[in-house]
Amino acid sequence: MKIIGVTGGIGSGKSTVCRILKKLGAALIDADKISHNIMNKGSLAYNECVSFFGKCILDEFGEINRKKLADIVFNDKKQLEALNKITHKYIFEEMNNQISQNLDKDLVVLDVPLLFGSDFPIKCDATVGVIADEEIRVMRASKRDSAKAEKIRERIKNQISDKEYYSLADFVIENNGSEEELIKKVKELYRSIIA
Ligand code: ADP
Repeated sequence: MKIIGVTGGIGSGKSTVCRILKKLGAALIDADKISHNIMNKGSLAYNECVSFFGKCILDEFGEINRKKLADIVFNDKKQLEALNKITHKYIFEEMNNQISQNLDKDLVVLDVPLLFGSDFPIKCDATVGVIADEEIRVMRASKRDSAKAEKIRERIKNQISDKEYYSLADFVIENNGSEEELIKKVKELYRSIIA
C-alpha cells in the first residue's frame, strides 16, 4: 500500500483529482470531511471548542456553526492556532484509523488542504500539488460555492503560490484545461505511483 497526500488551493481542482483517483481504485480519505465530522455535537472536539470559544459559536440547535467559528479565526492567528491545536489531534487520529482500514488497497489518497507549511504528521510516499491559474480558480470556486469573486481572491492571497508547490511537492498537476485533460494526467500519475 502506498499513501499519497494531495493538496492545492481553493478552486485548483484538488477534490476533483482525488475523486478521479478514487474512481481508479484508490481509497480516499478526506481531511475536510473528517474535520466536519469530528465537530459533531457532543464529541470531544466539540466540547473542547465550546469551552475554549464559548457558546457564541453554536447555532440554535446547539451544533457548531462553522461560519461563526471561521469568522473568529479568519484574521486572528492566535485563535486559529488554538482551533488547530484542539482539532488536529482528532483529525489525524481519524485519518490514521481510516488508513488502517485500507491496508489492502494499492493506494490510499489523503485529500488535505494544508499538507505543507503545517506539521502534518502522516508519512506520505509521495505528495501531489494541484495548481491552476488564479482567474480559473476564481471562476470555478465562485461558481461551485456561489461565493463572491473578491472573497475567493482574498483566500487565494493567503494560500501558497504555484512556485512553492513546484518546490515542495513530488508531483505537480496543472489543471488549466478540460476535465478530460485532467483525467488523463491523473491516470498517468496513478500509474507512475503504483508502478
Ligand atoms: P478544490 O477542491 O481545489 O477547491 P474542486 O476539485 O472542488 O476544487 O474544483 C472546483 C470546481 O471546479 C468544481 O466544481 C469542479 O467540478 C470544477 N473543475 C475542476 N477541474 C475542472 C476542469 N479541469 N474543468 C472544468 N471544471 C473543473
